[in-house]
Formats: sequence, C-alpha cells, structure tokens
Amino acid sequence: MINIFKMEGSTKAITEYIIKRLAIVCEDISPKDAEGVAYLTILYQRVLEDRRIAPEERSLMHILDKLEEDLMYDRRIFAARAEFVLDFLKADLLRCALLSCNNKKEMIILGRIRCLKKIYFSDGQEEKKRSERLTPEKIKKYVDQYVIGQEAAKKAVAVAVYRHDKMVKHPGENFAANVILLIGPSGCGKTEIMRRLQEITEYPVICTDVSSLGASQYRGRHKEDLLISLWEKAGRKKAQAEHGIIFMDEFDKVLQPVFSERGVNVHDDVQSQMLTMLEGSDVELKVGGRVFTMNTSHILFILAGAFQGIEECVRESKVKEEQQSGFIGFNNPLMSEIDVGFSRNNITHEVLMKYGMKRELAGRISEIAVLNSLKREDMIRILTVPKDNLIERYTREIRLACGGELKFTGEALEKIADMALAEETGARALHQIVRRAVRQCLYEAPGLKGISSITITEEVVSGEKKPILCMEDDVADWNVGELDEEAF
Ligand code: ADP
Repeated sequence: MINIFKMEGSTKAITEYIIKRLAIVCEDISPKDAEGVAYLTILYQRVLEDRRIAPEERSLMHILDKLEEDLMYDRRIFAARAEFVLDFLKADLLRCALLSCNNKKEMIILGRIRCLKKIYFSDGQEEKKRSERLTPEKIKKYVDQYVIGQEAAKKAVAVAVYRHDKMVKHPGENFAANVILLIGPSGCGKTEIMRRLQEITEYPVICTDVSSLGASQYRGRHKEDLLISLWEKAGRKKAQAEHGIIFMDEFDKVLQPVFSERGVNVHDDVQSQMLTMLEGSDVELKVGGRVFTMNTSHILFILAGAFQGIEECVRESKVKEEQQSGFIGFNNPLMSEIDVGFSRNNITHEVLMKYGMKRELAGRISEIAVLNSLKREDMIRILTVPKDNLIERYTREIRLACGGELKFTGEALEKIADMALAEETGARALHQIVRRAVRQCLYEAPGLKGISSITITEEVVSGEKKPILCMEDDVADWNVGELDEEAF
C-alpha cells in the first residue's frame, strides 16, 4: 500500500514522490504527463489539508473522494486529468499488491476506481472522441448540409470553433485572439450557421440580439444578462458556461451613437462593456439570491451584423489611401467615383473604426468574414437543396395528409425567389411566400381521396390561380373549395 499519507511535506515533496512512483509504474502510465502529475499533487494536498480526516485515517479512498467531487462539478474539465489519476492509482496499487499480499482494503479501492471509471468515462470517452473528430473541415461539411453558399463565413466559424475547442482543452497554451465578425445583409444565413453549429458543438451556445443593450448605469439589458443566459443554457453550470459560445447579432447597432436625455452616448458604454468581456474578465452575476463571478477569458465571441452603409466607410478609407500614396489630389472629382467592391478584403479594422467601432474593440477582432447577399439562384437552391428544406417539409406534410405528391414547377420556384428578393429580407421571406402558396392545399388535402399529385405553378404563387390537382390518370384544375383569403 502506498504510504504517501505519512508524508506531511510540501507540494514539492509530494510531486517528487509521485514522480518516483510514476517511474516505477511507467509501463502503464506516462510520467511525462505534467498536467496529470500536477493534478494528482493537488488532490493529495487537498487530502492533507482536510482537517476532518485524521492523519492516521487518511487513505487513497480520500483521494478518490476529492476526485469524485471534481468530476461531479464538471466531468469535462477534469476528465483527462482524472483519468490519468485513476490509471496511476490503479497501476501503483496493483504493483504494490504484487509485492505484498492482496488485502481487502486494496480490493475495495480497486473496485472504487473501476466504478468511477465506469460512471464518468464510459460516455466521456465518446464525448472526447466526438470533439476530436471535429476538424474545421468536418464542422463546415456539417453546416454545408443546411447553409447554401457563404463559404468564407462557414470556414471562419468552423476554424474559430475548432480553435476554441483547442483553447479550452489546452488552457496552458498561449493562443492568439479568437473573435470573429460576420458581416452580411439581413436573412443571408448568419444566424443559420450558428443554429447548425449548435447542433454539433459540445459547448453551450446562445444567439442574442445585442442592439437593445443599454449603458450600465441605466435599467435594461447589460453584459451580465448575456452571461446569465449562457449560464442558463449550460444547465446552470458555471464551468461549462465559461467555455461557451456567444453569438451577438445586430452588433453594428451598438456602433452607432445613441444619446440619452442627458446627452451621454449610451453606446459608448455598451462598447466598453463588450470590450471588458472580449478581453477576458471576471464579471459578477446576481441570480436570485446567489452572487458569483464568471470569467469570460475562454468564451468564444462571434459578432454579426448587416453593417448598412459600411461601403461608404470603405470608400473613404480607400480615398485616404489613394491620397496618401499621391495617386489622386484632394477635391478631385474622381474621389466619389472610386469603385469599391464589398468584399472580405476591403473591410479592414480601420473601416470598422470609421463605422464607429472603438479602436480597442476593433483590435480584438481576429477574423472578418463577409457574407454575400442572396441572388435569385441562391434563393432557389435554399428552397430545394438543404437537408430538410422548405419544399421537402411541405411535400412530406401533403403526402401525410392525402397521399399525393406536392410538386412545384420551375417557374413557380423562380417566382417565389423573385418575390422574396423584392421583400429585401433575404431568405427569411421564403417561408411566408411558400406557406401562402400551399395553404389552400394544406387546408383541403386531408379531405381528398385518390390524389396522385398537386402542382404549384407560377400563377398559384402569385395568387392568380389554384393548384393543379391530378387524380390518378385524370388532370383537373383544383375545384374543391374556393381560394378564400379571409379564411386564412
Ligand atoms: P441573418 O443573416 O439575418 O442572421 P438567418 O440566418 O436567420 O438571417 O436567415 C433567415 C432564414 O433564412 C433562416 O431561417 C434560413 O432558413 C434561411 N437562410 C438564410 N440564408 C440562408 C442560406 N445561405 N442557406 C440556407 N438557408 C438560409
């Protein structure tokens, strides 16, 4: 039996002892695992410092108690190190048991080690494997199934999430900043990327609109509320929330000045609150009667917004560049004609500052990804290509209702796309337009029998005609009921 508990020495003495024991059992376990050794030392130290345990009663069982306390707090944080500790204790114990006789106490401890491994590591292993498998390429491939186009943004998010995972799992390493900014018009897929990501990442994710955040001295939502939402999402586990992901939508809104009645720019303070979080700090949270601090250093922040009018800032910055290089003179008429494309390369940190972002905040952004506004063909692809797309969903619903196939003609899809483009809310408008086109079918199909197919034409989409109903060999106009606008 290991007699480490006879040692009342310093942490250094305990570490040396562990290393010595490790050298003996190193066939089973690597003595190079510095993190594991450090954690084992901490556990020993905690047993030695526990006044409730009399020195003569200390046993390895108490180490297992301390380890279990940690595992119950959050298995994911302690998992790799805890596994190391259990492996070490088991190997050491077996080695000692070989040398001396097998006694009952050792059997109990071995049983407990086996039990702890079973409880905490059977699916823990699965989780570990799952996140190990998530390379940026695999994350993007998953999102690709649902989000059409937007390659730069999908790649940027995939890399950020992958790096986040590495940062969480290697807290000792010094990683460069990991804050990304997604710029793209409304309804082009910014939030959809995050929604899909949520489905595969092991970290809690919240998507929140930050446009309503207020200055700290006023009532309303503040940075604390975002962190409380994350904590709630993490099942009220602080440790998990501290490794979460916050997606801040409408971020551009807090960059424009908004003045209070007293003439104070409220958004100045909101930007400072953001900066405090992004830089990593301890934030005091009050929930019910509980007060606790949450550290934001290991939270991944993804900022997003439409940044309307940023093209003007790009133009200004480009003009300044040209002037500095002596390419055009001041007040030159060419200035206003400088053609600026709206692309990833020309949205720089300087452009963001011109748009209203504080220098320090802009400095924290490590990656800027620009999403394209959706074109007609993108809209059609969004309708028909993604997994569980809109058309597929309604087709399934109609099949369940009457057994018939719901079909959309090519022109109908084009019409839907054109109508959505006219609304200028991106792909968001598609839902409503398709719903309007099929609502008559949804209403009447359950009462129909022997239907082979229902076809939605361009005229059905524009509300001029009814869907074409095909019953076995017979093709007929939809004659059941009238299009009754009031009914819907
Ligand atoms: P925003 O860019 O304003 O955050 P969303 O990502 O929430 O917009 O998009 C609104 C809706 O439009 C989503 O529910 C999604 O169904 C659809 N959508 C938008 N862009 C795409 C896209 N690129 N691929 C697939 N669906 C999209």
